[in-house]
Amino acid sequence: MVNSQMKELGKKASAIRELYEYGKKRKSEIGEDKVFDFSLGNPSVMPPDVVNETIISLLNDCENVHAYTSAVGDYNVRKSIAKHLNDKYFANVSCDYIYLTCGAAASLTITLNALLNKGEEVIIFSPYFPEYKVFIEKANGIVQTVLCDESNFYPNLNDFESKINNNTKAVIINSPNNPTGVIYNEACIKEICDILKKKEMEYNHPIYLISDEPYRELVYSDIVVPFITNYYNNSIICYSFSKSLSIPGERIGYILVSSSCINKDDVYSAVCGAGRSLGYVCAPSLFQYIIPKCLSYTSDLDKYKENRDILYKALKEIGFEIIKPEGAFYIFMKVLGNDALSFSEKAKEFELLLVPSESFGFSSYVRIAYCVSKEQIINSLDAFKKLFDCYK
Ligand code: PLP
Repeated sequence: MVNSQMKELGKKASAIRELYEYGKKRKSEIGEDKVFDFSLGNPSVMPPDVVNETIISLLNDCENVHAYTSAVGDYNVRKSIAKHLNDKYFANVSCDYIYLTCGAAASLTITLNALLNKGEEVIIFSPYFPEYKVFIEKANGIVQTVLCDESNFYPNLNDFESKINNNTKAVIINSPNNPTGVIYNEACIKEICDILKKKEMEYNHPIYLISDEPYRELVYSDIVVPFITNYYNNSIICYSFSKSLSIPGERIGYILVSSSCINKDDVYSAVCGAGRSLGYVCAPSLFQYIIPKCLSYTSDLDKYKENRDILYKALKEIGFEIIKPEGAFYIFMKVLGNDALSFSEKAKEFELLLVPSESFGFSSYVRIAYCVSKEQIINSLDAFKKLFDCYK
Protein backbone atom coordinates (compact mmCIF):
# COMPACT_ATOMS: atom_id res chain seq x y z
CA MET A 1 0.00 0.00 0.00
CA VAL A 2 1.24 3.49 -0.78
CA ASN A 3 0.82 6.40 1.60
CA SER A 4 -2.85 7.29 1.28
CA GLN A 5 -2.42 10.96 2.18
CA MET A 6 0.17 11.35 -0.59
CA LYS A 7 -1.94 9.37 -3.03
CA GLU A 8 -4.86 11.72 -2.48
CA LEU A 9 -2.64 14.79 -2.86
CA GLY A 10 -1.15 13.41 -6.06
CA LYS A 11 -4.51 12.64 -7.60
CA LYS A 12 -5.93 16.05 -6.86
CA ALA A 13 -4.11 18.91 -8.56
CA SER A 14 -4.46 22.36 -6.99
CA ALA A 15 -7.34 24.47 -8.32
CA ILE A 16 -4.74 26.71 -9.98
CA ARG A 17 -2.98 23.82 -11.73
CA GLU A 18 -6.31 22.24 -12.71
CA LEU A 19 -7.41 25.43 -14.43
CA TYR A 20 -4.00 25.83 -16.06
CA GLU A 21 -4.24 22.28 -17.49
CA TYR A 22 -7.78 23.01 -18.68
CA GLY A 23 -6.41 26.14 -20.38
CA LYS A 24 -3.69 24.18 -22.17
CA LYS A 25 -6.27 21.75 -23.52
CA ARG A 26 -8.64 24.52 -24.51
CA LYS A 27 -5.85 26.42 -26.32
CA SER A 28 -5.04 23.32 -28.36
CA GLU A 29 -8.72 23.10 -29.35
CA ILE A 30 -9.48 26.73 -30.25
CA GLY A 31 -6.11 28.47 -30.49
CA GLU A 32 -3.68 30.10 -28.07
CA ASP A 33 -4.97 33.62 -28.57
CA LYS A 34 -8.62 32.69 -28.02
CA VAL A 35 -8.16 31.64 -24.40
CA PHE A 36 -7.61 34.30 -21.74
CA ASP A 37 -5.63 32.30 -19.25
CA PHE A 38 -5.17 34.15 -15.96
CA SER A 39 -4.61 31.01 -13.90
CA LEU A 40 -0.92 30.59 -13.14
CA GLY A 41 1.64 32.99 -11.65
CA ASN A 42 4.11 32.17 -14.42
CA PRO A 43 6.11 35.30 -15.34
CA SER A 44 5.60 36.38 -18.97
CA VAL A 45 8.34 39.02 -18.86
CA MET A 46 11.75 37.72 -19.91
CA PRO A 47 14.58 37.51 -17.37
CA PRO A 48 16.95 40.49 -17.40
CA ASP A 49 19.82 39.99 -19.90
CA VAL A 50 22.29 39.55 -17.08
CA VAL A 51 20.79 36.12 -16.32
CA ASN A 52 21.58 34.54 -19.68
CA GLU A 53 24.84 36.44 -20.05
CA THR A 54 26.03 35.13 -16.69
CA ILE A 55 24.99 31.58 -17.53
CA ILE A 56 26.94 31.74 -20.80
CA SER A 57 30.05 33.16 -19.21
CA LEU A 58 29.90 30.58 -16.42
CA LEU A 59 29.62 27.79 -18.98
CA ASN A 60 32.48 29.21 -21.07
CA ASP A 61 34.87 30.34 -18.40
CA CYS A 62 34.44 28.19 -15.32
CA GLU A 63 35.36 24.66 -14.57
CA ASN A 64 32.57 22.28 -13.75
CA VAL A 65 29.73 24.51 -12.71
CA HIS A 66 27.63 21.36 -12.64
CA ALA A 67 29.32 19.80 -9.62
CA TYR A 68 27.80 19.56 -6.14
CA THR A 69 28.35 22.55 -3.88
CA SER A 70 28.22 22.45 -0.08
CA ALA A 71 24.90 21.09 1.12
CA VAL A 72 23.87 24.54 2.38
CA GLY A 73 24.99 26.25 -0.83
CA ASP A 74 28.23 27.79 -2.08
CA TYR A 75 29.98 29.94 0.53
CA ASN A 76 30.77 32.85 -1.80
CA VAL A 77 27.22 32.94 -3.10
CA ARG A 78 25.86 33.06 0.44
CA LYS A 79 28.34 35.80 1.26
CA SER A 80 27.19 37.86 -1.71
CA ILE A 81 23.55 37.53 -0.63
CA ALA A 82 24.37 38.63 2.91
CA LYS A 83 26.31 41.65 1.63
CA HIS A 84 23.52 42.63 -0.75
CA LEU A 85 20.90 42.49 2.01
CA ASN A 86 23.08 44.38 4.47
CA ASP A 87 23.81 47.12 1.92
CA LYS A 88 20.19 47.42 0.83
CA TYR A 89 18.32 47.06 4.11
CA PHE A 90 20.97 47.92 6.72
CA ALA A 91 20.23 44.47 8.08
CA ASN A 92 22.50 42.35 10.22
CA VAL A 93 22.50 39.32 7.92
CA SER A 94 25.18 36.65 8.23
CA CYS A 95 25.98 34.20 5.45
CA ASP A 96 26.34 31.55 8.16
CA TYR A 97 22.56 31.55 8.52
CA ILE A 98 21.65 31.35 4.83
CA TYR A 99 20.60 28.07 3.22
CA LEU A 100 20.28 28.01 -0.55
CA THR A 101 17.46 25.89 -1.89
CA CYS A 102 14.89 25.30 -4.63
CA GLY A 103 12.70 28.40 -4.54
CA ALA A 104 10.20 29.54 -1.95
CA ALA A 105 8.35 26.22 -1.92
CA ALA A 106 11.40 24.27 -0.74
CA SER A 107 12.32 27.12 1.62
CA LEU A 108 8.90 26.88 3.25
CA THR A 109 8.78 23.09 3.51
CA ILE A 110 12.28 22.97 4.97
CA THR A 111 11.54 25.76 7.45
CA LEU A 112 8.27 24.22 8.60
CA ASN A 113 9.85 20.79 9.02
CA ALA A 114 12.72 22.41 10.89
CA LEU A 115 10.44 24.17 13.36
CA LEU A 116 7.42 22.00 13.97
CA ASN A 117 6.88 19.25 16.45
CA LYS A 118 3.76 17.15 16.04
CA GLY A 119 0.58 19.08 16.76
CA GLU A 120 2.10 22.56 16.92
CA GLU A 121 0.16 25.32 15.22
CA VAL A 122 1.00 27.66 12.39
CA ILE A 123 -1.10 30.75 11.73
CA ILE A 124 -1.75 31.83 8.16
CA PHE A 125 -3.81 34.77 6.96
CA SER A 126 -6.66 34.02 4.58
CA PRO A 127 -6.77 34.43 1.68
CA TYR A 128 -3.51 32.46 1.60
CA PHE A 129 -1.28 30.68 -0.89
CA PRO A 130 -3.00 27.25 -1.05
CA GLU A 131 0.20 25.22 -0.69
CA TYR A 132 0.72 26.54 2.87
CA LYS A 133 -1.86 24.05 4.10
CA VAL A 134 -0.19 21.18 2.28
CA PHE A 135 3.27 22.15 3.59
CA ILE A 136 2.16 22.68 7.20
CA GLU A 137 0.16 19.47 7.40
CA LYS A 138 2.99 17.41 5.89
CA ALA A 139 5.28 18.84 8.57
CA ASN A 140 2.82 17.48 11.17
CA GLY A 141 1.57 20.95 12.03
CA ILE A 142 -1.95 22.26 12.54
CA VAL A 143 -3.20 25.15 10.41
CA GLN A 144 -4.86 28.08 12.17
CA THR A 145 -6.39 30.67 9.89
CA VAL A 146 -6.95 34.35 10.56
CA LEU A 147 -9.23 36.26 8.24
CA CYS A 148 -8.16 39.43 6.47
CA ASP A 149 -10.49 42.42 6.40
CA GLU A 150 -12.12 42.77 3.00
CA SER A 151 -11.67 46.55 3.06
CA ASN A 152 -7.88 46.33 2.62
CA PHE A 153 -6.92 42.64 2.92
CA TYR A 154 -4.77 43.34 5.95
CA PRO A 155 -5.01 40.67 8.66
CA ASN A 156 -7.65 41.24 11.30
CA LEU A 157 -5.37 41.82 14.27
CA ASN A 158 -7.99 41.14 16.95
CA ASP A 159 -8.64 37.76 15.41
CA PHE A 160 -4.87 37.24 15.08
CA GLU A 161 -4.24 37.94 18.75
CA SER A 162 -7.10 35.70 19.84
CA LYS A 163 -5.82 32.75 17.76
CA ILE A 164 -2.34 32.70 19.34
CA ASN A 165 -2.03 30.17 22.13
CA ASN A 166 0.63 28.17 23.92
CA ASN A 167 0.71 25.77 20.99
CA THR A 168 1.45 28.43 18.37
CA LYS A 169 4.87 27.85 16.86
CA ALA A 170 4.93 30.10 13.83
CA VAL A 171 3.11 32.60 11.68
CA ILE A 172 3.51 32.90 7.91
CA ILE A 173 3.20 36.28 6.25
CA ASN A 174 3.39 36.96 2.53
CA SER A 175 3.78 40.53 1.35
CA PRO A 176 3.48 41.53 -1.48
CA ASN A 177 0.68 39.04 -1.30
CA ASN A 178 -0.57 36.21 -3.43
CA PRO A 179 -3.56 36.33 -4.13
CA THR A 180 -4.48 39.92 -3.17
CA GLY A 181 -1.49 41.95 -4.40
CA VAL A 182 -1.59 43.86 -1.11
CA ILE A 183 1.61 45.02 0.60
CA TYR A 184 1.72 45.26 4.40
CA ASN A 185 3.04 48.70 5.32
CA GLU A 186 5.42 49.32 8.17
CA ALA A 187 2.63 50.10 10.64
CA CYS A 188 0.96 46.76 9.90
CA ILE A 189 4.24 44.86 10.26
CA LYS A 190 4.97 46.61 13.54
CA GLU A 191 1.53 45.73 14.88
CA ILE A 192 1.96 42.06 13.92
CA CYS A 193 5.40 42.01 15.56
CA ASP A 194 4.17 43.75 18.72
CA ILE A 195 1.44 41.17 19.16
CA LEU A 196 3.93 38.35 18.65
CA LYS A 197 6.43 39.82 21.11
CA LYS A 198 3.67 40.17 23.73
CA LYS A 199 2.58 36.58 23.18
CA GLU A 200 6.15 35.28 23.32
CA MET A 201 6.44 36.87 26.76
CA GLU A 202 3.09 35.48 27.84
CA TYR A 203 3.86 31.90 26.77
CA ASN A 204 7.59 32.09 27.42
CA HIS A 205 8.72 30.55 24.14
CA PRO A 206 9.62 31.83 20.69
CA ILE A 207 6.91 32.27 18.09
CA TYR A 208 8.65 32.38 14.72
CA LEU A 209 7.66 34.82 12.01
CA ILE A 210 8.16 33.20 8.60
CA SER A 211 8.17 35.73 5.81
CA ASP A 212 7.44 34.14 2.44
CA GLU A 213 8.95 36.57 -0.08
CA PRO A 214 8.83 35.50 -3.72
CA TYR A 215 7.38 38.92 -4.63
CA ARG A 216 9.62 41.18 -2.51
CA GLU A 217 10.75 43.26 -5.50
CA LEU A 218 7.42 43.31 -7.36
CA VAL A 219 6.14 46.65 -6.12
CA TYR A 220 4.30 49.29 -8.22
CA SER A 221 3.85 52.14 -5.77
CA ASP A 222 6.16 54.04 -3.47
CA ILE A 223 5.31 51.77 -0.55
CA VAL A 224 8.41 50.23 1.04
CA VAL A 225 8.34 46.51 1.82
CA PRO A 226 9.69 46.28 5.38
CA PHE A 227 12.64 43.91 5.78
CA ILE A 228 11.38 41.54 8.41
CA THR A 229 14.55 40.72 10.34
CA ASN A 230 14.83 44.45 11.13
CA TYR A 231 11.51 44.26 12.98
CA TYR A 232 11.39 40.88 14.69
CA ASN A 233 14.19 38.80 16.16
CA ASN A 234 12.71 35.34 15.77
CA SER A 235 12.18 35.66 12.06
CA ILE A 236 13.00 33.51 9.07
CA ILE A 237 12.84 34.69 5.46
CA CYS A 238 11.92 32.31 2.66
CA TYR A 239 13.05 34.02 -0.51
CA SER A 240 12.83 33.04 -4.15
CA PHE A 241 14.32 34.38 -7.38
CA SER A 242 11.44 32.79 -9.34
CA LYS A 243 9.47 35.97 -9.93
CA SER A 244 12.03 38.77 -9.51
CA LEU A 245 14.27 37.27 -12.22
CA SER A 246 11.53 35.36 -14.11
CA ILE A 247 13.23 32.00 -13.57
CA PRO A 248 10.58 29.93 -11.74
CA GLY A 249 11.55 26.75 -13.57
CA GLU A 250 15.14 26.95 -12.40
CA ARG A 251 14.20 26.47 -8.73
CA ILE A 252 16.46 28.77 -6.78
CA GLY A 253 15.97 30.73 -3.58
CA TYR A 254 17.13 30.77 0.02
CA ILE A 255 16.22 30.53 3.67
CA LEU A 256 17.60 33.21 5.94
CA VAL A 257 17.50 32.76 9.71
CA SER A 258 17.76 36.11 11.47
CA SER A 259 21.09 36.70 13.22
CA SER A 260 19.03 38.02 16.14
CA CYS A 261 16.95 34.85 16.48
CA ILE A 262 17.14 33.68 20.09
CA ASN A 263 18.22 30.13 19.20
CA LYS A 264 19.60 30.82 15.73
CA ASP A 265 22.15 28.00 15.83
CA ASP A 266 19.52 25.42 16.72
CA VAL A 267 17.12 26.80 14.11
CA TYR A 268 19.82 26.80 11.42
CA SER A 269 20.90 23.25 12.37
CA ALA A 270 17.28 22.16 12.14
CA VAL A 271 17.02 23.85 8.72
CA CYS A 272 20.08 21.88 7.58
CA GLY A 273 18.59 18.70 9.03
CA ALA A 274 15.19 19.26 7.43
CA GLY A 275 16.86 20.09 4.11
CA ARG A 276 18.81 16.87 4.37
CA SER A 277 15.85 14.73 5.35
CA LEU A 278 13.73 16.16 2.54
CA GLY A 279 16.51 15.71 -0.01
CA TYR A 280 16.99 19.44 -0.56
CA VAL A 281 20.77 19.60 -0.33
CA CYS A 282 22.94 21.49 -2.79
CA ALA A 283 20.52 23.71 -4.73
CA PRO A 284 21.03 23.74 -8.54
CA SER A 285 24.70 24.76 -8.87
CA LEU A 286 24.56 26.75 -12.09
CA PHE A 287 21.76 28.89 -10.68
CA GLN A 288 23.53 29.36 -7.38
CA TYR A 289 26.49 30.78 -9.30
CA ILE A 290 24.44 33.32 -11.26
CA ILE A 291 23.15 34.92 -8.04
CA PRO A 292 26.09 37.23 -7.18
CA LYS A 293 25.87 38.90 -10.59
CA CYS A 294 22.07 39.16 -10.62
CA LEU A 295 21.22 40.31 -7.11
CA SER A 296 20.65 43.93 -8.07
CA TYR A 297 18.53 43.18 -11.14
CA THR A 298 14.90 42.35 -11.78
CA SER A 299 12.86 41.61 -14.87
CA ASP A 300 11.19 44.66 -16.42
CA LEU A 301 8.56 45.29 -13.73
CA ASP A 302 7.06 48.20 -15.68
CA LYS A 303 5.41 45.63 -17.91
CA TYR A 304 3.49 44.16 -14.98
CA LYS A 305 2.64 47.64 -13.75
CA GLU A 306 1.24 48.51 -17.17
CA ASN A 307 -0.87 45.33 -17.15
CA ARG A 308 -2.06 46.11 -13.64
CA ASP A 309 -3.06 49.64 -14.61
CA ILE A 310 -4.94 48.63 -17.77
CA LEU A 311 -6.79 45.78 -16.07
CA TYR A 312 -7.58 47.62 -12.85
CA LYS A 313 -9.02 50.63 -14.69
CA ALA A 314 -11.06 48.50 -17.09
CA LEU A 315 -12.50 46.20 -14.41
CA LYS A 316 -13.47 49.18 -12.26
CA GLU A 317 -15.15 50.85 -15.23
CA ILE A 318 -17.07 47.68 -16.02
CA GLY A 319 -18.32 47.71 -12.43
CA PHE A 320 -16.34 44.96 -10.67
CA GLU A 321 -15.36 45.36 -7.03
CA ILE A 322 -11.59 45.26 -6.56
CA ILE A 323 -8.85 46.76 -4.41
CA LYS A 324 -5.95 48.25 -6.35
CA PRO A 325 -3.07 45.81 -5.89
CA GLU A 326 0.26 47.45 -5.10
CA GLY A 327 2.53 44.50 -5.71
CA ALA A 328 2.98 40.88 -6.91
CA PHE A 329 1.00 40.28 -10.10
CA TYR A 330 -2.49 39.33 -8.96
CA ILE A 331 -5.86 41.02 -8.72
CA PHE A 332 -8.36 39.55 -6.27
CA MET A 333 -11.81 40.34 -7.61
CA LYS A 334 -15.17 40.00 -5.85
CA VAL A 335 -17.44 37.72 -7.83
CA LEU A 336 -21.00 38.50 -8.79
CA GLY A 337 -23.55 36.11 -7.38
CA ASN A 338 -21.35 35.24 -4.35
CA ASP A 339 -20.37 31.74 -5.47
CA ALA A 340 -16.77 31.81 -6.70
CA LEU A 341 -16.89 28.33 -8.22
CA SER A 342 -19.91 28.98 -10.39
CA PHE A 343 -18.58 32.43 -11.33
CA SER A 344 -15.33 30.81 -12.47
CA GLU A 345 -17.34 28.25 -14.46
CA LYS A 346 -19.42 31.02 -16.03
CA ALA A 347 -16.19 32.86 -16.93
CA LYS A 348 -15.05 29.80 -18.86
CA GLU A 349 -17.97 30.34 -21.23
CA PHE A 350 -16.12 33.50 -22.35
CA GLU A 351 -12.76 31.68 -22.35
CA LEU A 352 -11.70 33.56 -19.22
CA LEU A 353 -9.75 31.42 -16.76
CA LEU A 354 -10.05 32.89 -13.26
CA VAL A 355 -9.12 30.91 -10.14
CA PRO A 356 -12.00 30.59 -7.63
CA SER A 357 -11.03 31.75 -4.13
CA GLU A 358 -12.09 28.70 -2.07
CA SER A 359 -8.65 27.14 -2.31
CA PHE A 360 -7.20 30.39 -0.94
CA GLY A 361 -9.41 29.89 2.13
CA PHE A 362 -11.74 32.75 1.24
CA SER A 363 -15.15 32.84 -0.37
CA SER A 364 -16.69 34.92 -3.16
CA TYR A 365 -13.57 36.04 -5.03
CA VAL A 366 -11.49 35.00 -8.02
CA ARG A 367 -7.77 35.51 -8.53
CA ILE A 368 -6.57 37.02 -11.79
CA ALA A 369 -2.84 36.48 -12.50
CA TYR A 370 -1.95 39.38 -14.80
CA CYS A 371 1.64 38.26 -15.47
CA VAL A 372 0.54 37.67 -19.08
CA SER A 373 1.10 39.58 -22.32
CA LYS A 374 -0.39 43.05 -22.65
CA GLU A 375 -2.25 41.79 -25.74
CA GLN A 376 -3.99 39.14 -23.64
CA ILE A 377 -5.07 41.79 -21.15
CA ILE A 378 -6.46 44.08 -23.86
CA ASN A 379 -8.11 41.28 -25.81
CA SER A 380 -9.78 39.90 -22.69
CA LEU A 381 -11.60 43.08 -21.68
CA ASP A 382 -14.61 42.39 -23.85
CA ALA A 383 -14.98 38.95 -22.25
CA PHE A 384 -14.90 40.51 -18.76
CA LYS A 385 -17.66 42.92 -19.86
CA LYS A 386 -19.79 40.05 -21.18
CA LEU A 387 -19.24 38.13 -17.95
CA PHE A 388 -20.38 41.13 -15.91
CA ASP A 389 -23.46 41.59 -18.08
CA CYS A 390 -24.56 38.01 -17.34
CA TYR A 391 -25.22 39.06 -13.76
CA LYS A 392 -27.10 42.26 -14.47
N1 PLP B 1 4.78 31.39 -1.98
C1 PLP B 1 3.92 32.10 -2.72
C2 PLP B 1 3.05 33.10 -2.05
C3 PLP B 1 3.85 31.90 -4.10
O1 PLP B 1 2.97 32.61 -4.82
C4 PLP B 1 4.68 30.93 -4.69
C5 PLP B 1 4.61 30.65 -6.13
O2 PLP B 1 3.80 31.14 -6.87
C6 PLP B 1 5.56 30.22 -3.87
C7 PLP B 1 5.59 30.47 -2.52
C8 PLP B 1 6.49 29.19 -4.45
O3 PLP B 1 7.51 29.85 -5.14
P1 PLP B 1 8.69 29.09 -5.88
O4 PLP B 1 8.29 28.92 -7.31
O5 PLP B 1 9.87 29.98 -5.76
O6 PLP B 1 8.89 27.80 -5.20
